[in-house]
Amino acid sequence: MKVHAYGTPDASSPLKPVQFDRPDVRSGEVAMEVLHCGVCHSDIHQARDDWGNTVWPCVPGHEIVGRVTEVGSGVKRFSVGDLVGVGCMVNSCQTCDACKSGEEQYCTGPRGATLTYNGPTAPDGTNTYGGYSTAMVVREEFCLTIPDAIEPEKAGPILCAGVTTYHPLRYHDAGPGKKVAIAGIGGLGHMAIQIAKAMGAHVTALTTSASKEKLIEELGADDVILMKDEDEVEAAEGRFDLVLSTIPYAHDVNPYLAMTAHDGTLHFVGLFMPIEELATMPMLFKRKKIMGSLIGGVKQTQEVLDFCAKHDIRPETQSIAMDEIEDAFERVKSEDVRFRHVIDMSTLRAAASQLEATTLEAPDRGMAADGGKAS
Ligand SMILES: [Zn+2]
Ligand SMILES: [Zn+2]
Repeated sequence: MKVHAYGTPDASSPLKPVQFDRPDVRSGEVAMEVLHCGVCHSDIHQARDDWGNTVWPCVPGHEIVGRVTEVGSGVKRFSVGDLVGVGCMVNSCQTCDACKSGEEQYCTGPRGATLTYNGPTAPDGTNTYGGYSTAMVVREEFCLTIPDAIEPEKAGPILCAGVTTYHPLRYHDAGPGKKVAIAGIGGLGHMAIQIAKAMGAHVTALTTSASKEKLIEELGADDVILMKDEDEVEAAEGRFDLVLSTIPYAHDVNPYLAMTAHDGTLHFVGLFMPIEELATMPMLFKRKKIMGSLIGGVKQTQEVLDFCAKHDIRPETQSIAMDEIEDAFERVKSEDVRFRHVIDMSTLRAAASQLEATTLEAPDRGMAADGGKAS
């Protein structure tokens, strides 16, 4: 099917209209019209090649909400008209231990997990194109049900920002009696505060910007520490069982480690860069742990959608038109953003016939459900 999208051929060009054919629905796959797609910080890093691993051309977007338009043979859980979501992955081997335990993001199969965009090229794939596009095709196992209670324009960020924080909060049993600090109050952090609070933990927000204090309170945090206030930071030494850091840029992690309790954990979900000048002494003297995790599996993605529906948790979103994407990128980079931008994909559908679009090669989407090679 012909798809309109926004993408870029290299790290320095702005995102521009493109078009390509998504391969027809195969057995076990679901096709959808994309209604909304959240703008994740990863989209910017990937489009600008900040991690040095971008496969060009790059069509970002992995917070996808759509309406099912077609299902392949054998699809059991979805029908035409269903409201569905696609998160950070579209495929995996389905047979390794990680996949069998529902943690496809750690797939050890030959291609690993196939990411929704910038998917793996080896050994036989090409590239995947994400949700900044009018239509999507995904294997049934990677398709999520959007609960009725969640507004379609609010569901997207739960598929990445939501599950990325839900996964470690569950892993560390955040709940009653646990003191949890959330560092960095942006797209991930503002979901983490709400989720940790709903799990029953005592939640403190760690932020560098005083202007976010009121919002933090509205999100339900019990406490907030301004990282610029040295006295407050010092007073919090050893306080938190878990410091969940969602900060996506290089920064001094030592104050956060200092706040981590004896036997506690400093856990990274947003930092894809090396940590420099890490003081190991606090780890040794108080047996502190430093670890990280990547998004969450499909099972937990469904779980966090249902959890957000049940506990009335929503991301703060602001709707934008597709052609406003470059402005949105700039706002996110300058942190001048009230949490999550969500692209209203009807704006691209409406404009598509007028746009001059570059035609891209058809995307890959990983191995077929029958184990065959990508078409
Ligand atoms: Zn993301
Ligand atoms: Zn696997």
